[in-house]
Amino acid sequence: MESIASNLNRIREQIGTLSVKAGREPSDVRLIAVSKTKPARLVREAFDAGQIEFGESYVQEFLEKRDDPLLQGLPLQWHFIGHLQSNKIRSIAGKVALVHGIDRLSTAAELSRRSMQQNLHTEFLLEVNTSGEQTKYGISPDVLLSEAEKIFKLPNIALRGLMTIASPDTDLARKEFRELRNLLEALKKNAPDPTLLTELSMGMSQDFESAIEEGATIIRIGTAIFGWR
Ligand SMILES: *Cc1c(COP(=O)(O)O)cnc(C)c1O
Repeated sequence: MESIASNLNRIREQIGTLSVKAGREPSDVRLIAVSKTKPARLVREAFDAGQIEFGESYVQEFLEKRDDPLLQGLPLQWHFIGHLQSNKIRSIAGKVALVHGIDRLSTAAELSRRSMQQNLHTEFLLEVNTSGEQTKYGISPDVLLSEAEKIFKLPNIALRGLMTIASPDTDLARKEFRELRNLLEALKKNAPDPTLLTELSMGMSQDFESAIEEGATIIRIGTAIFGWR
């Protein structure tokens, strides 16, 4: 396998080429290195190759990695990209730059409550089930706007955009990315402060090219950086 550094360089080059081709600025697309199941040693290796933002999916694993001696004192930014249940919110509040996997009012309300208690301001994304697959998490597109209306009223949290995991089929994935972008535009029309709604977290190792073409501002890449899990 290629080294983590060369994988990161290749992906950064691809981000550059694809965003310019799509008429976008390369700096408008943030790369999150998804380090779930990979040891702190490899996170360190990626950091040494210039990577700052990392994504984790499992609360316990995240907390252990974050506290690993190999990573102490580094200016890392963690993203929680896994599905979150209300009872796990307490463990991650204040420890991540952005929470990607909120998919219902009750979890958003818990995030708000914990943030208030700890005097925090927490930024998050709503996960949308754009594929309609039963096995996937995410709020249904039909109820996104009405749920968001209630979520906007919650204190100490700020909705910054939307996140999705697309279908494995590439043509379907592109349609779903486009749908997420349209949903964000619709949401902006209803938002108390539309300028906050800037983020589209979409695209993984298999499908980040079309995600960038369809407007992704955050791509979440694991396998193409760290190898198979
Ligand atoms: C694991 C995971 C990724 C990374 O997937 P790869 O295919 O390894 O790039 C991205 N987003 C989420 C939500 C994940 O759980």
